[in-house]
Amino acid sequence: MSRYWSPLVNSLQPYVPGEQPKLRNLVKLNTNENPYGPSPRVLEALCAEANEGLRLYPDPNSDRLRDAIAARYGLERDQVFVGNGSDEVLAHTFLGLLKHDQPLLFPDITYSFYPVYCGLYGIEFEQVPLAEDFTLRIEDYRRPNGGIIFPNPNAPTGRLLPLEAIEQLLEANSQSVVVVDEAYIDFGGDSAAALVARYPNLLVVQTLSKSRSLAGLRVGFAMGQAPLVEALDRVKNSFNSYPLDRLALAGAVAALEDETYFEQTRRAVIETREWLKTELERLGFEVLPSAANFLFARHARRDAAALAAALRQDGIIVRHFKQARIEQYLRITIGTEAQCRQLVEALNQLFQSA
Ligand SMILES: *Cc1c(COP(=O)(O)O)cnc(C)c1O
Repeated sequence: MSRYWSPLVNSLQPYVPGEQPKLRNLVKLNTNENPYGPSPRVLEALCAEANEGLRLYPDPNSDRLRDAIAARYGLERDQVFVGNGSDEVLAHTFLGLLKHDQPLLFPDITYSFYPVYCGLYGIEFEQVPLAEDFTLRIEDYRRPNGGIIFPNPNAPTGRLLPLEAIEQLLEANSQSVVVVDEAYIDFGGDSAAALVARYPNLLVVQTLSKSRSLAGLRVGFAMGQAPLVEALDRVKNSFNSYPLDRLALAGAVAALEDETYFEQTRRAVIETREWLKTELERLGFEVLPSAANFLFARHARRDAAALAAALRQDGIIVRHFKQARIEQYLRITIGTEAQCRQLVEALNQLFQSA
């Protein structure tokens, strides 16, 4: 607190990102990064772009990247918006499309950045409880609202809502925007991008941070009909004309061009996830079905916070949320096969010794 702070800053409760430890050789299974590096073609593109051209501003409209995204999803350039990570895309979405007189709706268990944006932009919201098994019941969203947002698959549960349910939600809610945050969709679901042509109230948000192994490059995007994209553009051009730098643009285009590498690493993560799920169940965990690059698991007899602390002693970090309904769960990012074996080994040891 400082006397110089604005009243708004005084009132903020900022998001707390998962730990990025300075220590090397920790097994880092806490922030849903991809355990594999980015495509070698991305690294080549970045090197090629690191030249004297950096004295010039980048393309403020990111046309090449938007064209690459549009081509991949069968859309037009004016149906694609890009930003400095999907967190920035989401921020512009909250301000440009979700701030209305009625409250914004999102699940009680979800990405914890949503209430933070509401605080920053003064958006009223209502949290809609997920069912007991953490599934999202679309009938609970049939009430007056200024917009709806949820991740699909949801975070931190990993549960997937099928496209048919999303369509029903869009139809029942034609008066406001429905935002589907697809940060993890490539690990197990079909993108709602296929519905963009039919629903003027749909905005789909994605990121290159997870399935494209580029959390460090900060590239996210949104897909929707042109008027929705124009709203985001208006916010962006009132905030920062150049959210994506030259390196990010070059790297992102190269990532989207290397479909083979994308498929390979995505499949490896999915296979390891299914292996780890079986192993955790064998160790006495109850594991939610996951369509993401993490598992959400609870042990029948062990306290989650204590388990997380014990694993940390063994050099393995997983995520624990001190939050009602989920305080006995751990969110475990899918690492390489070797990292996941190390986790299983550490749990085996822990359970044998006590
Ligand atoms: C990781 C994540 C994001 C943010 O991704 P960035 O593109 O790295 O900003 C957005 N939404 C959800 C649900 C996420 O898990």
